[in-house]
Amino acid sequence: MTFELTILGCSSAMPVHGRFMSSQVLNVNEKLLLIDCGEGTQIRLSEYKISKNKIETILISHLHGDHIFGLPGLIGSMNLVGRKKPLDIFGPLGLEYYLKTVFEISESYLGFEINFHTVEHNKYTKILEDKNMKVYSLPLEHRIPTVGYKIVEQDRLRNINPEMIERFDLNYQQIQAAKRGDDIELDNGNIIKNHEITLEPKKSRSFAYCSDTKYNEGIVPYVEGVDLLYHETTYLKNLQSKAQERFHSTTHDAANIAKKAGVGKLIIGHYSSRYKDLDLLLSETREIFDNTELALDGKKISVKC
Ligand SMILES: [Zn+2]
Repeated sequence: MTFELTILGCSSAMPVHGRFMSSQVLNVNEKLLLIDCGEGTQIRLSEYKISKNKIETILISHLHGDHIFGLPGLIGSMNLVGRKKPLDIFGPLGLEYYLKTVFEISESYLGFEINFHTVEHNKYTKILEDKNMKVYSLPLEHRIPTVGYKIVEQDRLRNINPEMIERFDLNYQQIQAAKRGDDIELDNGNIIKNHEITLEPKKSRSFAYCSDTKYNEGIVPYVEGVDLLYHETTYLKNLQSKAQERFHSTTHDAANIAKKAGVGKLIIGHYSSRYKDLDLLLSETREIFDNTELALDGKKISVKC
């Protein structure tokens, strides 16, 4: 079962050094979520052979251009290739107005429905749940209302001990019931307790996205223990005061959040255009949190079962 992040863009503000602006796709058991949509997102989707019409949900962190200027073009192209499936878009207040205005003045008429969901930017809340995943929004601290997102795979089923299938001659229905945690009644009327034939399920996998934000320890409880944390690192640590002033984070800020939250892996991105070479951003972050990777356009990061 897949749980894989693909980076489509990792630059802040403008496209430079072969990096497009913020956007990524999370594949949770073949359900695709697009997270932020900077200009050029649809170009990256086709370069990386990700079908735009497989995207059912879009999560937008805030309304700065480097996170939303790709939306009208992407949605227009979805329409041109005959999309009929509805699209759910989550984001802070104003997103619906922005898109409706663009479509209205450009006389774009869509052949599919968009369901807009306004996300409150100042609280942690579950915004979506389906059979694959739960999605939470979390408050970030940026110059305009901004939210992060956490996506958690649904609780996984218990694993059946293969020896027990043979020993008790379990049929398909009994195996499925045992995986759900039920005790099993055998044909002879004997009851077998669930824990005798099953093993603990694997932990649900999780990913959290925090861009853009200044250093804010308030988010630590919300991202605690996630397998993957994407946290922006717009600047190196020597620009700490600039980061604070601009409501962005440095390498050490991101690493400290990852460390305090005890995450599995940290992915850094949203780099300032001043950095062509990213090696120093990576090594500085690793001074505090070793299991760090750079976001780079086209990079895929999987969490194994
Ligand atoms: Zn940004």
